[in-house]
Amino acid sequence: MAELSPVLKQATPVVAAYGEGVNLFDEQGRRYLDFTAGIGVTSTGHCHPRVVAAAQEQVGRLIHGQYTTVMHRPLLTLVERLGEVLPPGLDRVFFANSGSEAVEAALRLARQATGRPNIVVFHGGFHGRTVAAASLTTSGTKFRTGFAPLMAGVHVSPFPDPTHFGWSREESTSFALRQLDYVLQTLSAPGDTAAFLVEPVLGEGGYVPASREFFAGLRERADRHGILLIIDEVQTGWGRTGKFWGAEHFDAAADILITAKGLASGFPLSGIAASYALMEKALPGSQGGTYGANAVACAAAIATLDVIKDEGLVENAAARGAQLMDVLHEVADHYKQITDVRGLGLMIGNEFHDAEGNPDGATAAAVQQEAARQGLLLLTCGAWGQVVRFIPALVVGEHDVTEAGEIWARSV
Ligand code: PLP
Repeated sequence: MAELSPVLKQATPVVAAYGEGVNLFDEQGRRYLDFTAGIGVTSTGHCHPRVVAAAQEQVGRLIHGQYTTVMHRPLLTLVERLGEVLPPGLDRVFFANSGSEAVEAALRLARQATGRPNIVVFHGGFHGRTVAAASLTTSGTKFRTGFAPLMAGVHVSPFPDPTHFGWSREESTSFALRQLDYVLQTLSAPGDTAAFLVEPVLGEGGYVPASREFFAGLRERADRHGILLIIDEVQTGWGRTGKFWGAEHFDAAADILITAKGLASGFPLSGIAASYALMEKALPGSQGGTYGANAVACAAAIATLDVIKDEGLVENAAARGAQLMDVLHEVADHYKQITDVRGLGLMIGNEFHDAEGNPDGATAAAVQQEAARQGLLLLTCGAWGQVVRFIPALVVGEHDVTEAGEIWARSV
């Protein structure tokens, strides 16, 4: 008999048997309200009938058609359909399987296209667990410790995070941009800097939205120095924040956009999008992988896009997100250990601090465990695990949000 490696730390004791919309059922048939969505992946809910039908149909037709050997219809259709949602100018796409692989694809493209070695990342960013993606990740030591040497050429600059210093959004933005200039002056000369890599909302780093002024500052410096702006929309894309792309909140225009998670409702699929002028600079054969753009995953992604459009899920994420924000603020008003409630759309974090004002991961974990016991699945994030986050599927209903709020209030 084998057992799972202890490296896996399961956030709840639940063994899921089946899922339906925002509900998960365990092997004893107990229902859980799932406000984790597989870490923001099952955008259309668990087993949406149209996604299931599309995947089943494709399984019987063609499961795997390797894109460096043959094309297949779901891939070609998906590429065409992505034109409906990709930002203007980003009309060339490339697919992989996970967020980390897409981050690596963006990194390779940026270095090859510019001929420059360095990447500037922003403190608290999470970009994945492969060695290159971990080298770009600064949201917690656990993602980097013990497997050095990490990739060279990565420099870290502050993210406009107002949470820990009692700053305003304007102060944190101005600090972040001044420090970025300092990094470009002292660590990573503009002529050596291939790209800025940034999330619109820090995800694993604690659900901290960036600001419009910060992105304007990044864009201006990128244009001035010929640096590429890579926006990691792995967690914020596909309607999660109440707009199709998180960067839309900040009028931010990427040179390379990275997507994964919500894209195929749970099937492994990720991708990058950029202009033709940029993509043509990638060396042939330098991107690719055996499983990239799996036919069933592509069919599921097309169905996901249909469902998001036909059911108005981006609008629903905005409306239910506003409701959830109100509910969570109301709870926080009664509990002084919740010091901040923040986020965009259906991506909301509750920050826990102890009596001395320090980030309090122990209390956040205890509340998360209690919520699971009471039937509400949640996750934590933040460098200290001090943030309990709510990321339900975009199909979440008004009543689900009310029920989640009631369980949350009891758990806190
Ligand atoms: N980038 C962001 C913003 C993420 O949130 C994640 C995963 O949570 C990743 C990259 C890595 O994705 P994956 O876990 O699919 O490799």
